[in-house]
Amino acid sequence: MVKIEILEETEESIKLLLSETDRSLANALRRSLITDIPKMAIDEVRFQLGTKEEEGEVWETTGPIPDEMVAQRLAMIPIPTIHDKFYFQDECPNCKDLVEADRGCLECQMIYTCVVFGTEDGRWVTADDLKYLGEESLEIPAEYKTIPITKLLKGQMIEFYATAIMGRGKEHTKWSSVCGVSFSPRRIGVLNNKTKAKILWDMDLKINAKDFDKDGKLTDINKVSTLISELNHVGEGTEVSRDFKDAITLEDVPGEFILYFETDGSMTPRTAFLKASEELGGRFGSLEQDLSEAL
Ligand SMILES: [Zn+2]
Repeated sequence: MVKIEILEETEESIKLLLSETDRSLANALRRSLITDIPKMAIDEVRFQLGTKEEEGEVWETTGPIPDEMVAQRLAMIPIPTIHDKFYFQDECPNCKDLVEADRGCLECQMIYTCVVFGTEDGRWVTADDLKYLGEESLEIPAEYKTIPITKLLKGQMIEFYATAIMGRGKEHTKWSSVCGVSFSPRRIGVLNNKTKAKILWDMDLKINAKDFDKDGKLTDINKVSTLISELNHVGEGTEVSRDFKDAITLEDVPGEFILYFETDGSMTPRTAFLKASEELGGRFGSLEQDLSEAL
């Protein structure tokens, strides 16, 4: 059974140590993170077209970029995703029996509205201008409010309703809540030749002989990652590499992998990881059932 330890965690990124496992499971988790996590994203935008007259001024629904491009930008804005609150439209208890065009209710869609008028100097329309029709906690999170959508000059305006629905990354990248997903084998540093290793210590970098234990091993994950970059000073292509040779080497730890990823802000990395594991577990569960039925 795979063991998971959180090494670092922030609001947007996470680093995990997977142990007692193999490369294929780590890769399955990576793929599940990218393609399987349910996420809310804007899928349909209804633009209001026409002119508006206010206090003697005429505003027209035109702008510097086409509506299709505005819609594309809206799709990529991170929409806060609360998994317990919303269903996929084809699983929604109120809508699943309806034809696709009629689906959409409080439990399977989120609607944002936006009305902005341009100014003489140009007015940026940003994610902050999207107003959620409903409770405040589902507004675009503060740190993403500055995402630009378009810019309007005097006489130009934009007005639309944008509908977000639940989807998965395998259908479209707008429904993928993670980025930069990578994993690598956990490695340790091994001190093979104390005399020659002095070449590195003499450079007065962060890692030195004291960091290695009495067996000549360095196991601390953060220190190993520092060591890996510091070894570049004595590695191939450097003047001292001929003397340094294999004074310090790196060894893979069997069955241990470090998994790292970031999210786009639609959910925390922890939620993303839990959902990905859940989806993967569900898939293997049904595979097991299929197999037992077939055999
Ligand atoms: Zn519904």
